[in-house]
Amino acid sequence: MVQIKKNVDLSSFTSWMVGGPADFFCLPSNLEELREALEFAKTKTLPTTILGGGSNVLISDSGISGLTIGLKNLSGVLRSEPVADRWLLEVMAGTSKSEILKIFLKQKLAPSVFLAGIPGDVGGGVAMNAGIGEMLTPREFVEITDWVEVMRFDGSVNRLEAKKLRWTYRHCEGWQPGIIIKVGLSWKNQPEDSILVQAKSANQNRLSKQPLDMPSCGSVFVNPPGHKAAMLIDSCGLKGYTLGKTQVSLKHANFIVNLGGATCAEIWQVIQHVQTVVKAKTGVELITEVVKLGRW
Ligand SMILES: Cc1cc2nc3c(=O)[nH]c(=O)nc-3n(C[C@H](O)[C@H](O)[C@H](O)COP(=O)(O)OP(=O)(O)OC[C@H]3O[C@@H](n4cnc5c(N)ncnc54)[C@H](O)[C@@H]3O)c2cc1C
Repeated sequence: MVQIKKNVDLSSFTSWMVGGPADFFCLPSNLEELREALEFAKTKTLPTTILGGGSNVLISDSGISGLTIGLKNLSGVLRSEPVADRWLLEVMAGTSKSEILKIFLKQKLAPSVFLAGIPGDVGGGVAMNAGIGEMLTPREFVEITDWVEVMRFDGSVNRLEAKKLRWTYRHCEGWQPGIIIKVGLSWKNQPEDSILVQAKSANQNRLSKQPLDMPSCGSVFVNPPGHKAAMLIDSCGLKGYTLGKTQVSLKHANFIVNLGGATCAEIWQVIQHVQTVVKAKTGVELITEVVKLGRW
């Protein structure tokens, strides 16, 4: 039976390490438990919020109303095998991207390179169409996803073909409302000996350019058409801008880091300051990639 706890602090469930309590919180480890959680929310007429790996969310200091469902225990690789000329994977949505990275790496397949170093779960990767800016093939989830299975809030399940969804830069539409529970992935089964070296070098590149030793949500803003958000922010002299325990990273201007004890309110003020200065100095509007959750 699913355990639903009251008043659970969510900061440790996010990579930014900020956020207040969930009124109710659970971590279902199978589909029956997930259904029970949805039934609980329905009976009490509570709103439901989904948390994957928590690596792209900004949770309010006042927390999240209703039931928050964390999916990290809804994980596991159900299928991993060659079929015709492709390598097929079927995974639960809470499976970490690093798990599927390991499989693609073992098979020496190209998705390893863009997946190297993107945190969070597979479900979050689909919801955000996670990927990288470099012109590699593949470089986003849209290219490796065949189908997603979604549990609706009444407990029913639909399988949707990925090509019928609307995939855009760091977003995927067409599967809502509901919870992504399973994902089918594939890539052509053409091993390349250089893949391990390429994935290692992608990781080293991240380590040298990103403040991976500090809590963050990765890139805060999407790149505006024709621009790099980091370059715009840097050109406005905002690297190192600090408010309380929140700082525009000195290493990568599109990262905002928690220096230890930052609050969501502080982070949001820094985000707004960056948007205002960049708009005033360059005329370009920065749009956030990170998803705001909770009571705002
Ligand atoms: C150091 C660092 C580096 C990063 N680098 C990259 C990068 O290179 N490229 C990139 O694209 N992103 C990057 N990110 C951002 C983040 O890792 C990705 O967006 C990731 O795909 C989010 O997955 P998650 O499981 O953490 O989702 P979460 O942050 O938990 O959730 C994100 C959104 O998806 C929804 N969601 C999550 N899972 C489900 C589900 N199963 N069903 C329905 N809705 C769901 C949530 O409700 C929320 O709205 C980085 C983050 C960090 C901290």
